[in-house]
Amino acid sequence: MRPQDILMPVAAGLACKAGGFHIDPVRPVERAVITHGHSDHARAGHGAVLATQETLDMMRLRYGDNFAATTQAIAYGEEIRLGDVTVKFHPAGHVLGSAQIAVSCKATRIVASGDYKDAPDPTCAPFEVVPCDVFITEATFGLPVFRHGNAADEIKKLLASVKLFPERAHLVGAYSLGKAQRVIALLRLAGYDAPIYLHGAMEKITHYYASRGVAPGELRAVKGMKKADLAGTITLAPPTATSDIWTRRFPDPVTAFASGWMRVRARARQRGVELPLVISDHADWDGLTATIAATGAGEVWVTHGQEDALVHWCQTNGLAARPLDLVGYGDEEESETLPEGEDEA
Ligand SMILES: [Zn+2]
Repeated sequence: MRPQDILMPVAAGLACKAGGFHIDPVRPVERAVITHGHSDHARAGHGAVLATQETLDMMRLRYGDNFAATTQAIAYGEEIRLGDVTVKFHPAGHVLGSAQIAVSCKATRIVASGDYKDAPDPTCAPFEVVPCDVFITEATFGLPVFRHGNAADEIKKLLASVKLFPERAHLVGAYSLGKAQRVIALLRLAGYDAPIYLHGAMEKITHYYASRGVAPGELRAVKGMKKADLAGTITLAPPTATSDIWTRRFPDPVTAFASGWMRVRARARQRGVELPLVISDHADWDGLTATIAATGAGEVWVTHGQEDALVHWCQTNGLAARPLDLVGYGDEEESETLPEGEDEA
């Protein structure tokens, strides 16, 4: 069977006709199989949803109980038959509950990675290499200039700044699903045991992580705090809030941003970020190319991000490769909007 007879890009997303489902559909479909909880991959309004328990829980937290007609949880390593294919979920190392989805039909296996990273992350199961015939890779940071380095070193930079400016508040922009909890966990691993302050938009999901065993230490809400009492503290907030009038409640804040994009100085400057922290939940160039090679796939489909350079890399390394041209997936950090009522001064 040809791979394109198993999975095919259509307007609603990646369609598996033989299995009667779509992977991470961007439009409402009858049956959705979902890789992880970020809003560009996990949308409300499908008939049936198959995903990990964590992804289902995060969708419920974001969209409410009726986000789908029916849901089914699947564990890592579990195999389920859908129509003429079998699907199996494997850890993607991206955020809590994130999965790569292996779709097999007869002797052909395609792995749709969703978003992934091969770097260690104390808040989720480590990325697993899944041998396959066709690997569908993301390409958010698919340019050789992107090398993320060690996240622990970036946390050291943040702590050094806190020590250097005890009279100022530190305001760290971090995507509220995944990145924020990872930054908290890294701070604790670095020995930081003071309370960490949270923007209201991060509370629900951070408490959910805690309920799944990712212990955050002492957390406090920013709301209701006196300005002077926030001197010398660290607060996590969605990236959009850190350039907002919301920041006026902090004493002379040092604005930081935890993102793979912070490798690009112009981006940091443009956003008014004083302390860029290169911490990414996506694989960097070396991670992408090493993963592609490790899967043993002879064919690679590249999607959402910088497709061209990665397609070229594959071809020069003897692999068949093409961009998928899927529409509707973005960079979650750039697209996060604040819930109503969270941006008050
Ligand atoms: Zn994601």
